Amino acid sequence: MSTIDPAVRLRELRDLIHEYDYRYYVLDDPTVEDAAYDALYRELKALEEAHPELADPNSPTRRVGGAVLDGFASRPHRLRMYSLDNAMVEEEWRDFVTRAANKLERDGVAFDAPTFWVDPKFDGLALEIIYENGVYAGALTRGDGEVGEDVTENVRTVRNVPLDLRPHAARAGLPVPRLLEVRGEVVMTRQDFYELNERQREQGGKVFANPRNAAAGSVRQLDSRISATRPLTFFTYAVGSQDWGDGLAGPGWATHGAVMAGLKALGLPLAGQGKVVAADEVYPYFEAMGRQRQELPFEIDGVVVKVDSLALQEALGFTDRAPRFAVALKFPAHEAETVLKHIDVQV
Ligand code: NAD
Repeated sequence: MSTIDPAVRLRELRDLIHEYDYRYYVLDDPTVEDAAYDALYRELKALEEAHPELADPNSPTRRVGGAVLDGFASRPHRLRMYSLDNAMVEEEWRDFVTRAANKLERDGVAFDAPTFWVDPKFDGLALEIIYENGVYAGALTRGDGEVGEDVTENVRTVRNVPLDLRPHAARAGLPVPRLLEVRGEVVMTRQDFYELNERQREQGGKVFANPRNAAAGSVRQLDSRISATRPLTFFTYAVGSQDWGDGLAGPGWATHGAVMAGLKALGLPLAGQGKVVAADEVYPYFEAMGRQRQELPFEIDGVVVKVDSLALQEALGFTDRAPRFAVALKFPAHEAETVLKHIDVQV
């Protein structure tokens, strides 16, 4: 039997994770690998579940990581941006489905033969891009989920972010939304990352530990002229707040798959691997993506699975920190790309 006092271990874990969060989300400069972080985080979560009497509202498990960097204006999100719960093994994926089915059953909602939207979990920085009357009107980082950093000028320089959706809407026969918030991840491709680090090394600039930190650090530049020189790519994964005007329902999207097709038709960039599958096809998709990940031009750390029906998503709702209708299936640690090795050889 362990002799470690749970209260002491909880304190240790919370302090450590707060420090790692600060380095990762605020400084874009992590000191541990994600797999090591994830193991500590899961230990903390398990300990908190075993000892509810030691709950702490300020525990890192209660919040979405991230904070507004000094120097950036902060702006509230109209709809909160959440994190995702993780599943590390197949059994946890099945637990996710069981939990969803149980919640819906309690609420008298049918969950027969549900389908799921699956796509890669991009390893970058979460962004919300705001379009007003079809025109680019701003961008926010996720921040703490409630309030993000205003990175409007920097994101304007990201080449594949459309600045005007109206011609696309006209071509697709879609109305132009009064307001459309698009969510996705800004990443740096491996090739762009290696070339950027080459240039940084030659010029005596900061060398980045991995593409995720390079992307995050480039978007969170106080000088947008520097962001403009950084090769960034945006991939859309969801929609936030929308207003199609005069009480119109808009295109009447009923599934996440339809939302993604609609966003694509409006000119937004999708990475291209997303699709709708049945429950028993989810894990094979995850395994196939694991085999394919090295061939993708950008880094991914797993697969995100979302209940496809928007009505069921609404019925499932959210916990403090994450949706109940989505889960991240993460690749096992031994497959994780070695972040700190890059630092060893490059610094
Ligand atoms: P997360 O990255 O595990 O999951 C949520 C995020 O996934 C969303 O905010 C979104 O940006 C992103 N995402 C990517 N592709 C997506 C898709 N297709 N659909 C929907 N969302 C998608 O959660 P988090 O809170 O951003 O970060 C936690 C993770 O960050 C940890 O599990 C750990 O791996 C890493 N982390 C590492 C350190 C460290 O020191 N190494 C510190 C803090 C966090």
